[in-house]
Amino acid sequence: MTIPQIELNSGTMIPQLGFGVFQIPVPETQAVVEEAIEVGYRHLDTAQIYENEAGVGAAVRASGIDRSEFFITTKLWNPHQGRESTIPAFERSLDALQMDYVDLFLIHWPMPQRNLYNQTWEAMQEIAASGRARAIGVSNFLVPHLESLLAAADVVPAVNQIELHPALQQREVTALGARHGIATEAWGPLGQGKYPLLEETPVVDAARAHGKTPAQVVLRWHLQLGNIVFPKSTRRKRLEENIDVFDFVLSDAQMAGITSLERDGRVSHHPDEINE
Ligand code: NAD
Repeated sequence: MTIPQIELNSGTMIPQLGFGVFQIPVPETQAVVEEAIEVGYRHLDTAQIYENEAGVGAAVRASGIDRSEFFITTKLWNPHQGRESTIPAFERSLDALQMDYVDLFLIHWPMPQRNLYNQTWEAMQEIAASGRARAIGVSNFLVPHLESLLAAADVVPAVNQIELHPALQQREVTALGARHGIATEAWGPLGQGKYPLLEETPVVDAARAHGKTPAQVVLRWHLQLGNIVFPKSTRRKRLEENIDVFDFVLSDAQMAGITSLERDGRVSHHPDEINE
């Protein structure tokens, strides 16, 4: 299975498709990630708040595959933002993962009312300079947050990881990112299974036309737009299905049909709502 790689503005290569471990219970994480690795995933997306970094690290080691073959992302949890607390929190992540570097370290939420993200970014830049994060980026940043950070930053974020799927396409912030060389990572690429995306006519029709499932069609829509995705599942069959998306191409008309599903389809929090 060859997964396309995208070059980030840091020069780091990231597999365009990976595996996200949000809500995977701690005791199950190692086994599920081992299975994902067996299926072919090498890009793993975790976070401090998921509390399952240790399981991800253990699965990587248990695989016997060289660390350099993996792309590991983790994220700074909200209370640890700030000039003094970011680096110790990052070091706790490395301890949990039992790794001496991560490929990507993100500020998880901007928390605009706390107004700490610019000083947090200074610490993130230090982490990147130390080589312990190959790339640094942000998550859930909307246009005002990103503009403020870009005005103060020395290092442009490599990625912005945001909720993005056909029902919430985030055009303004992805366009701003593209102008600055910031790659878009789409979290909740399948709408977290909460939104009836997989039953929409353009998705179902394209799936039938290609002999694929609706989930594969939505993932393919993301990939053709250039988004980086890491769908989550704990079921082997779906792990296999979600990576098997490189043997068909959606036509322009099929892409446009799925793009027409845009509406106010946010399934999770608005970034301005999260301030602690
Ligand atoms: P997702 O869109 O990947 O949805 C996951 C759900 O979709 C599963 O629980 C399952 O119900 C369903 N699903 C998965 N594969 C399927 C298939 N083949 N067919 C039918 N249904 C299927 O949502 P997610 O897990 O929230 O997002 C993916 C990853 O993004 C997370 O695991 C996490 O790593 C990351 N994430 C980041 C943030 C953030 O704030 N930065 C927030 C949420 C998630």
